[in-house]
Amino acid sequence: MQFSEVLGHSEIIGTLRNMVDSNRVPHAILFTEREGYGALHIALATISYMFCQQKNNGDSCGVCNQCSKTGKLVHPDLHFTFPINTSTLVGKDKRAEIEEFYPLWRALVKENPWFGEQELYRAIGIENKFGNISVNEANSIMRKLALSSFEGGIKVMLIMFPERMNQEAANKLLKSLEEPQPDTYYFLVSHNPSKIITTVLSRCRIVEVPPIGHETLAGALGKAFSLNEEEALFWAGCSGGSYGKAAGLIAGINEENENHTLFIKLLELGIAKDHVAMFEIWESLAARGKEAQKSFCTDSLEILRKIYMISLGLDSISYTHNRERKILQALSGKIKADFFEKGYNYLNQATDAIERNVNPKFIFCDLCNRIYYNI
Ligand SMILES: [Zn+2]
Repeated sequence: MQFSEVLGHSEIIGTLRNMVDSNRVPHAILFTEREGYGALHIALATISYMFCQQKNNGDSCGVCNQCSKTGKLVHPDLHFTFPINTSTLVGKDKRAEIEEFYPLWRALVKENPWFGEQELYRAIGIENKFGNISVNEANSIMRKLALSSFEGGIKVMLIMFPERMNQEAANKLLKSLEEPQPDTYYFLVSHNPSKIITTVLSRCRIVEVPPIGHETLAGALGKAFSLNEEEALFWAGCSGGSYGKAAGLIAGINEENENHTLFIKLLELGIAKDHVAMFEIWESLAARGKEAQKSFCTDSLEILRKIYMISLGLDSISYTHNRERKILQALSGKIKADFFEKGYNYLNQATDAIERNVNPKFIFCDLCNRIYYNI
């Protein structure tokens, strides 16, 4: 991964390049972003630039021995940590090392470096569980970084989603973050920095990665998906500057979004006062895995936002595709004006409750009842 391959973000790249060139790279850098802005790209391009032995024009060469290894994510001095859940390793050692997941991790980064947390879990086969960075992983990080560098240069640890590190694991790492070993660097990439343990946060240089510029994103989408200018600008607008989100939306355009369909159905049943049919839907939601339950809430918020925008006459900025527009327009005329704010709160409360492991039957029964009585 080279700087020239990163979409947008030239200012941040300039700063990072200068840090490497002047040998002032902070010992721990935390990149924060909303999913799909390209933080992992930036981190990997910076790491490649640090390792490259034939830098030219302010970028890694992409072809030297070092670049070849960093490009394939197989450099022996470049380590990765990300949330895993070893309870899914049927018949294997439950204390399995993170390396077991490396082949799947490499394939994911290569195929879709814009991935979010759920996409990671899907890729490593723990879809319906939460991953975490446990003390076992923290110990493994310490062991790896205690070794001398294999190639005689720097050592780098990239931690994806450090917000999933628990207190015990963080305590292990703190000493290393506080008293850095020479030529050892931590790169962290977070989509939810407010959940990172504060003692870890305070030891990192924070780089906030902003959304990708509208025109830059539209240009890239147009090329990648053979879209005309109008379509490309539409999807860039829908995604709020996230390539990952835009690509997901475009890929999903030909498929019905099951969550959208289900939430629309739920609203229609609420309006029709069909409690029995709503009962069936909440039971099916309660039987899903946690991540699938959370994505139902997130997708539902998106639909609610669109109906709200349409009800205000703001169709053009609701970024609703023609396929859904008519259905949502019909709904917007039937929903009480004060329901939008309530519905927004219900869905956010449901998401919090899922995170807190509340019984999903209570969560979805409650959600459906609230829709039934307030829509
Ligand atoms: Zn190189």
